[in-house]
Amino acid sequence: MFELPEIINLVRQLEKTVVRRRIVRVEVPTNRPKFLFLSPDTPAFERALIGRRIEEATSRGRWIFCRLDDGRTLLFGEFGGRLLFHPAGTPIPAKRHWIAEFDDGSHLSLAIQMWGFLGVLTEAEIAQHPYAGTLAFTPLDTSFTEAAFFERLDRHAAGENKPIKAFLTHSPNVAGIGNGYLQDILFRARLSPKRKVSSLSRDERRALYGALRQTLREAADLGGRDTERDLLDEPGRYVPLLDGRAVGRPCPTCVAPIAKIQYLGGSCYLCPRCQA
Ligand SMILES: [Zn+2]
Repeated sequence: MFELPEIINLVRQLEKTVVRRRIVRVEVPTNRPKFLFLSPDTPAFERALIGRRIEEATSRGRWIFCRLDDGRTLLFGEFGGRLLFHPAGTPIPAKRHWIAEFDDGSHLSLAIQMWGFLGVLTEAEIAQHPYAGTLAFTPLDTSFTEAAFFERLDRHAAGENKPIKAFLTHSPNVAGIGNGYLQDILFRARLSPKRKVSSLSRDERRALYGALRQTLREAADLGGRDTERDLLDEPGRYVPLLDGRAVGRPCPTCVAPIAKIQYLGGSCYLCPRCQA
């Protein structure tokens, strides 16, 4: 699934390819997967896009916002798979769940893996959307300061006080992190995913903030993880410290073997010695 660094890179590439282009044709195959959430449903979705020009592409968390020339927005959110650009005259993959053709003969295609959201919404609809409307606090934004992060941790610790994994991957708390980058962030901060938010010391909070910014900045500069593909079908250049490939290998810090555990609906990779 794409997380903030991949989304930032996709937006950069959309700006260079289809922004300021007009959509002339849209196709949503009838056999689209059940977990591609479309709003509005076909054929209203297709009609909403035809003839529209993309004015701008931006991101928030794990969502891409393409502002259209009628004031509405084309959204891609919480998705994984392939979002690809095809210059005019180049082949389009047979496996696809959405295509848009542009006025210069180029195309965008989307093939969803697992699930994803695709929509054309008004500003008011975005504000009320249960996911797209709750992405105000995104790392790498200038508003994501240490003080603001600590304030969120305090508020959470006084209320729900969930484990740090649940806090970081829930988009109304922090938007943009999934189970991928979470592993490296917690490793760099030397924290177990099971630690309750209220248990973090001031130094641990500071380490967590630094690890979060460092990991996501570095990955965004490198075009995302090497296991994901960008708009031009190229892999990213960020090699995760801890993912499935690291299990059993020596920890980069203390050489204890990296472990895999199942926790809160997904795999976690960690150093049992460094991450207390
Ligand atoms: Zn270690």
